[in-house]
Amino acid sequence: MTISDALRAATAALTQTSDTARLDAELLMAHALGVTRSELLLRHMTAPAPEEFAPLLTRRQNQEPVAYILGTQEFFGLDFIVTPEVLIPRSDSEVLVEVALKARPDGRRVLDCGTGSGALLLAVLDHLPEARGLGIDRSLAALAVAAANAARLGLSNRARMVHADWEQAGWSRDLGPFDLILANPPYVEDDARISSSVRDYEPAGALFAGPEGLDAYRVLLPQLSALLAPDGVVLVEIGAALAAPVSAIARAAGMTAHLHRDLASRPRVVELVHSA
Ligand code: GLN
Repeated sequence: MTISDALRAATAALTQTSDTARLDAELLMAHALGVTRSELLLRHMTAPAPEEFAPLLTRRQNQEPVAYILGTQEFFGLDFIVTPEVLIPRSDSEVLVEVALKARPDGRRVLDCGTGSGALLLAVLDHLPEARGLGIDRSLAALAVAAANAARLGLSNRARMVHADWEQAGWSRDLGPFDLILANPPYVEDDARISSSVRDYEPAGALFAGPEGLDAYRVLLPQLSALLAPDGVVLVEIGAALAAPVSAIARAAGMTAHLHRDLASRPRVVELVHSA
């Protein structure tokens, strides 16, 4: 069977599983061949399909996310290593990076709370050549991925990945002040109906945050004001329904909240500064 035929069959086989069946099939085929997707489309369509393709297709049919099968995910124009120990960076989160760069183009000291793959922190550092950053995570496995991404992107000299848990007293002793604090904490309600490709494959600790999805904000946000420089800016990702409760938590913690939407116009990022 040619690659072209195999892609057609795979697309049909994936329509139940994926909204992006053809794209998924092409990405998996390119991975099986060890070429880029454009190389695949330009040069390889009439070649015989490689035998490495079928097991990759089976994994995707079992709902495994493409990013975990490939081991990489593009975010903000950069290529990140991802493993099942880290949340897959979403294009929805790119708005947080954009807002950070716009809010503090002069930012020098950046903290990323719950850095995971390091995507938010490393994307910001990549665009702020003078800045240095600290990524913290309670997962050692995630920190190893974040450190590997820092090295891969040539940012190891400016990005430090440190084991810390904001639920443990004293975690932030000796840290700060920061010009920018970023966070994409877990915010999914425990019983939310989410696709099995997320629920069964992505790390629960990066997703779920109590019955209302607010547990992480309740613990983290009140601690941030003390870490923030006088002109500092906090940017936290939120679930679309959480703008009001997260803003209320921030106000109670002495900060003023401003909402930003993602490309689909859903509430996505809350920007916080010290209240005047
Ligand atoms: N955006 C993710 C999702 O909808 C959730 C990320 C998070 O909880 N921080 O699956």
